[in-house]
Amino acid sequence: MHEMALCQGMVELIEEQRAVNGFDRVERVIVEIGVLGHVDPHALEFAFDVGARGTSAESATLEIREIPGRGWCMDCSQTIEITARGDGCPACGGYQIIVEQGEEMRLKELEVA
Ligand SMILES: [Zn+2]
Repeated sequence: MHEMALCQGMVELIEEQRAVNGFDRVERVIVEIGVLGHVDPHALEFAFDVGARGTSAESATLEIREIPGRGWCMDCSQTIEITARGDGCPACGGYQIIVEQGEEMRLKELEVA
């Protein structure tokens, strides 16, 4: 389960922020996950519960926001919405698509006390 590794990285990032900013604990963690990525939100929540144990983020709420998929269709030369990996272009049905957004995961915001 690679969500565990992702959370490990996230918790390390939070602890680095704590060292810099000096907060006591984290109340809310907001992460953005692209719908085309390989991150399962439920697995991420579980991994965060485990990974944050014993850190300043231990009692934090994890808020997951989904980033919609977006790409550029080379067949009809326009920006299109992609709802699932492997989907064709909704406008022309082509598959020459460059994904521009929706595969990423990022730590968006921390609410700290
Ligand atoms: Zn197209």
